[in-house]
Amino acid sequence: MSAHAVIEAPTSCAVLPVVGSDTLVPLVDGRSVPYANLDVAASAPALQVVADRVNEVLPLYASVHRGAGYLSQVSTALYEAARQTIGAFVGAREDDVTIVTRNTTDSLNLLAGCVPAQADGTPGRVLVLDVEHHANLLPWQRTGGATVLVGGATVAETLSGLRAELSRFPYALVAITGASNVTGESLPLAEVVAAAHDAGARVLLDGAQLVPHRGVSLAASDVDYVAFSGHKTYAPFGAGALVGRRDWLDAGTPYLAGGGAVRNVTLEGTTWQSAPARHEAGSPNVIGAVALASACDALAALEPGVLVAHETELRARLVEGLEEIDGVRVVRAWADAVDPVGVVTFSVDGHDAGLVASYLSAEHGIGVRDGRFCAHPLLARLGFPAGAVRASIGVGTTGEEIERLLSALRAYVGDGA
Ligand code: PLP
Repeated sequence: MSAHAVIEAPTSCAVLPVVGSDTLVPLVDGRSVPYANLDVAASAPALQVVADRVNEVLPLYASVHRGAGYLSQVSTALYEAARQTIGAFVGAREDDVTIVTRNTTDSLNLLAGCVPAQADGTPGRVLVLDVEHHANLLPWQRTGGATVLVGGATVAETLSGLRAELSRFPYALVAITGASNVTGESLPLAEVVAAAHDAGARVLLDGAQLVPHRGVSLAASDVDYVAFSGHKTYAPFGAGALVGRRDWLDAGTPYLAGGGAVRNVTLEGTTWQSAPARHEAGSPNVIGAVALASACDALAALEPGVLVAHETELRARLVEGLEEIDGVRVVRAWADAVDPVGVVTFSVDGHDAGLVASYLSAEHGIGVRDGRFCAHPLLARLGFPAGAVRASIGVGTTGEEIERLLSALRAYVGDGA
C-alpha cells in the first residue's frame, strides 16, 4: 500500500471566482456532488467578472465599423478597445498587430497563409517539434513548408537538435508550443528565440496553454507571434487572438474573403486592407473580444506570482499523489523539463483511459479528459498510443478537488480510499 495516508492535503482555494463552480452533478449511485472541473486545459470556465461584463455589454452591441448609429459607434469603440487590451496582455510591441480570431487553431491557420515563400517560390520553411498540438502542426504541413523534428529525451538534447536543424536550411519560422497540452512542459523560450533569431527565423509561440497560466510578453521575450484562445483564458468560446509583427500580416493572403477586409472591389479586381482588417472579413465577434479582454484584465490585475504559486502547488501535490498509486504512470516528454504548467497526463496500467475517465465522472463527479489530446505523434512516441488521462488545473481549482481525484484513483486501483 502507498504512503498516501501521511500526505497533508493542500489548502489552496480558488484564486478567482469562476461561473458554475457550485454545479452539482449526478452520480451513478443517485447522489449529487459538486462538479470537480479538472479539464480546464480543454476549456476553462468563464470568470465571474467575464460573465458580468458580457451581461453589461450585450444590450449595447450593434454593427461594427459600419453603422453611423450611436450603438454602432459604442460597439466599434468596445471592439477596438478590446483589441488593445488583448494585445497589451501579451506585451505587444508598438507596431505589432492584434487580430481577433476564433481560437488558437484559427490564429495558426491564418499565420500559415502569411509565411513568405522562399526565393524560388516554394513555401517558406517552418520548423516544428513532434510534441505539438495538431493545431500547431497541421497548418504548417498543409502549406507544404513544414519540417517536423522528433523531440529528444531531454530539453538539452531537443535544443541541440533544433539548433542543428536550423543550421541546415534557411527557416522562415520556428513554431513552438509555450507549454505542452499533454505534459505541461516547455522548452526554455529564451533559448529557442535566440537559436531561431541567430538563424534568421522568426518564432511563433502557441500560447494556448501558456498564456492563461503564465502570460507572455512579446516585447520582453522577443517572440515574433503568439496565438491563444479565449475559451482557455476564462472567457467564452469563439474568440482568440493572433498578435505579432505587422509585415507578414500585411502582405499575407487575406484569411477570409469578404466585407470589411477590402479597400475597394470592382468586377475587375479587389484591393485589400492591411492587417488587422485584412484578416477579419465578416462581422466580428464583438462580445467574444470584449469577454476575452475582460479576462485579460482580471488575470493582469492578480498580484504577481499568486496564480503561478497556486497552480504550481496543486500540480506538485497531484503529481506526488499520482506517483504513489500503484500502476499509475505520469507522462513526461523531457526528463529535465522545469516549471511545467498545471497539466498532468497519466495512465493506469491495465486500464483503458476512457474507462478511467468515465469512472471518475460517473462515480465521483470529476471531469478529466482522456484520449490522445490532439497530439497523436507525441503520445505514440512516448509509448501511449492508445491514449491516457489528463487532469488540468487553473484559477478555479481547489486542493479539495485534487484530493478527490487522488482518492478516487486509489479506490479504482484497489489501493484503499
Ligand atoms: N495548442 C494547444 C497547446 C492546445 O492545448 C490547444 C487546445 O487544446 C490548441 C492549440 C487549439 O486550441 P483551440 O481548440 O482553442 O483552437
